[in-house]
Amino acid sequence: MSQYSRAYPRYSAVLASKQRSIPTFKGVDDVCSSADVFGCDTFNYHEMSKTLPDSDVKLLKEYAVMGGEISLELANRVALAVKQWATAKGATHYTHWFQPQTESTAEKHDAFLNVDVGMKAIEKFTGELLVRQEPDASSFPSGGRRATFEARGYTVWDASSFMFLASTENGKTLTIPSLFISYSGEALDTKTPLLRSIRCLNQEAVKALSLMEDETSYVTVNCGPEQEFFVIDAALYNLRPDLVLAGKTVLGAPPQKGQQLDDHYFGPINARVINMMMEVEHELMRLGVPIKTRHNEVAPSQFEMAPVYEEANIAADHNRLLMAVLRKVAQKHNLAVLFHEKPFAELNGSGKHLNWSLSKDDGTNLLQPGDKPQENIRFLYFLAAAVKAVHDNGDLLRVSVAVPGNDFRMGSNEAPPAVMSVFLGETLSKVVSNLKAGKRMSSEGSSSDTIDLDIAKIPVIDKDNTDRNRTSPFAFTGNKFEFRALGSSQSISIPITYLNAAITQSLCDMNTYLEAKLAGGASRDQAVLDTVVKAFVDSQAVCFDGDSYDVEWEKEASKRGLSNLRTTPEALEVLTHDNVVDLFVRLGIMSHKQEIMARYNVFMERYVKLRLIELEVAQELLLTQVYPAALSYQQSWASSLSAVAGVLGRPPSAQKKEFEGYVSSVDALSSAMQELGGVIAKVYKLGDGKEAAEYIASEALEALDRARALADKLETVVEDGLWALPRYRELLFSL
Ligand code: ADP
Ligand code: MG
Repeated sequence: MSQYSRAYPRYSAVLASKQRSIPTFKGVDDVCSSADVFGCDTFNYHEMSKTLPDSDVKLLKEYAVMGGEISLELANRVALAVKQWATAKGATHYTHWFQPQTESTAEKHDAFLNVDVGMKAIEKFTGELLVRQEPDASSFPSGGRRATFEARGYTVWDASSFMFLASTENGKTLTIPSLFISYSGEALDTKTPLLRSIRCLNQEAVKALSLMEDETSYVTVNCGPEQEFFVIDAALYNLRPDLVLAGKTVLGAPPQKGQQLDDHYFGPINARVINMMMEVEHELMRLGVPIKTRHNEVAPSQFEMAPVYEEANIAADHNRLLMAVLRKVAQKHNLAVLFHEKPFAELNGSGKHLNWSLSKDDGTNLLQPGDKPQENIRFLYFLAAAVKAVHDNGDLLRVSVAVPGNDFRMGSNEAPPAVMSVFLGETLSKVVSNLKAGKRMSSEGSSSDTIDLDIAKIPVIDKDNTDRNRTSPFAFTGNKFEFRALGSSQSISIPITYLNAAITQSLCDMNTYLEAKLAGGASRDQAVLDTVVKAFVDSQAVCFDGDSYDVEWEKEASKRGLSNLRTTPEALEVLTHDNVVDLFVRLGIMSHKQEIMARYNVFMERYVKLRLIELEVAQELLLTQVYPAALSYQQSWASSLSAVAGVLGRPPSAQKKEFEGYVSSVDALSSAMQELGGVIAKVYKLGDGKEAAEYIASEALEALDRARALADKLETVVEDGLWALPRYRELLFSL
C-alpha cells in the first residue's frame, strides 16, 4: 500500500457518516400521548398506591420532603411491592445506583434469583437489601479517607427519588437511587451533601417565612439545568484518540468556517440529531424525566436540551440520567455525544446553565414578585439573600464549578468569567438602589420604578429586561436565578450544594438581624425592609449589570475586591479556607474538616490525572501521527526538489525557499515535542497533588499549546492524503 493509505480511514469515515440510515425505536408508533408514557418505568406514587396501603405512600411522600427514618417494616413492604412491579415488567436484576466523586454514576447488579435448599429458584428482595448494600468500595476516590484494607463503604436507598427500570435491548434492571457513605458515616458521593444542603436551606427558609408571618411546612429548592453538548459521527469520533480518551481534541487546525456566520444557533436541527434526540426524549419520558426544550447551540454540531425544572435532588438524578441516556442512544444512532466543556479550540465550549429557585409547600415561587405588598417584601428578602450569598461566598460558588474542562471556558469570550457577580437587570437594580437610598414614595406617586417603603410596591418585572444580559455568571431572570458558570460535564449536585450552603448562611444572618430588629420593637414590615436594605448595602460590590466579558470589568472587579480565580488548582484552595470549612461543618453538610480535605484531594488529583491524559494523548498523536505525516511530506518534497534540480542543474528558487521554511517548521515541532516529553516527566515527578496541578496550570499547558500551534500549522500545509486524523471541518460538518 502506498503511504497515501494513511488518509483512507478518514475519507471512508466521512463517506460513511453521510450514508447512515436513521434507526427507529420500538414503541414509536404506538405512543398514544406523552402523558401515557411519562414515568411508566418508574415506581412512582401512582404505582405504589396499587399495592401499598395509603398510609405507606403517605409516609414515603413525607420522607421525600422532610427526610427522616424509614422503618424496616416499611422497607420490607416497599421491597415486596417493588419486586412484584419490576419482575412483572421483566426485570431480572436490581442495583443500587450511586454517584461517587467521579463524573459518572456507579452500579453493581444483583439477580433477584435465589435458589432454595431444594434447588428451587425463588425471587428474593427484602427491605434490608433495598435499604442498604455493601459494594466493594476500595476503588472509588476517597481522597485518602479510606485505606484499601478498610474499603467498606455502603450504599443507602434514597427514598426521595423514584426507583426506575433501566432497559437495554435484552433485559431490565430495577435501579435504586442511593447515597454512598463510608463505614464511619462520611459522605463519599455527591448526593449526600446535596441532600444535607437541601434540608438545611429548607430549615432556614421556613424560619425566614415564619418571621415574616408567612407559614409553610417546607421550602423546596427547584432546579432546571440546560445541558449543552456536541454531537459528531461515531466513525470520525473513533478515529480521534484524543476525543475517545480525553473527551476533547488536543490538536486540530480551526476550519475556515466555524461559527462566525451565526448560522447554527437556533437553526433547524440536523435530521440524524433530532431523530436521536427524539429517542432520548422517549426513553427519558418513560423514566419520568420531563425534557422540555431542544435546540441548536452556537457552535456547529452543538446542541442543548433542558427539562422542566424539578426538586433539586430529583433534578440532579435526572441530569445524570439525561447524560447517560444521551450517550447510550447516540451510540445506537452511530453518533457520539461530547460533554466536555471545550472539545474544540476556537469554537464555543459547552456549559450547563443551572436555573434555581425556592418555593413554598403550596408551590408559590419565593423569587416571584407578586401583586400584594407582603409578597413583594418576601420576594425582596429572598432576592437579597441570594445577592448576599454571592457577595459573602462568591469563592464558594467559583470552586463549585472548578472542573478541569471549565478552565478552557471561564473568562474567555463565550462563558461567564471567573469573577462571581450578580446581574439584577435595570428595573430591579433601580428598586434596590431606591431602597438603599431610603427613598420613600408617597401614595400619590405612581412612577413604576420606585418603591414605597410602606407597601413595597414593585413594578412588574419584564422577563426580557432581566434576560438580556447573557454574560453574567449569576443572573436574575424574572423569577429565578440562572447560575451560568457550570461546566457541561459536571454533576449539578456540587454547584447546587454550595449555592444552597451560601444562601442558607445569608438567610441565617438575615434572620438573626431581623429577629433583633423585631425584638427591638420595630414593626414587622419595617424590620424586614431594614434587613433587606442592610443585605443589599453590604453586598453592593457584587452587583454588576454591565458586560462581564469586558476586560474593563476585570479591572473594576479587582478594585471592588472581588476575587478572580482563573484555574481549577487556584479555585480548589478555597476549600481549605477556614470560613468555608466552618460553614460546611456548621451547616452539617460535611461532618468535619478532614471530610472536606478529602474532597479537595480528590478534585486536585482528578485535575492532575485528566490533564496528564490530555498531555500524553497529545504527545502520542504528535509522535505517531503528525510527525510521521510531516516527515513523509518532507521526504517527497525533498525528492521532488532534487529531481527537478537534477534536470535544471539548479533547484527552483521559490520552491527551495518554501521548503526551507517547511523544514524549520518540522524542526520546531521536533523541539516542541521534546519539550513536551520533559514537561510530562516533570509532572510525574511532582506527584498528583497541588504542586503538580499548579505546574500543569502554569507551565505544562503552555508547552502543549506551543506544540499544538506548530502541529496545527503543519496540518494546513501537509498533503491531505497523508493526514490520518479527521479534521475539524469533518468532525463538525459531516452529519
Ligand atoms: P433559556 O431561555 O435560558 O435558554 P430554557 O427554556 O432553555 O431557557 O431553560 C430554562 C430552564 O429553567 C428550564 O429547565 C426551566 O424549567 C427552568 N426554570 C423555569 N422556571 C424555573 C424556576 N422557577 N426555578 C427553577 N428553574 C426554572
Ligand atoms: Mg436554553
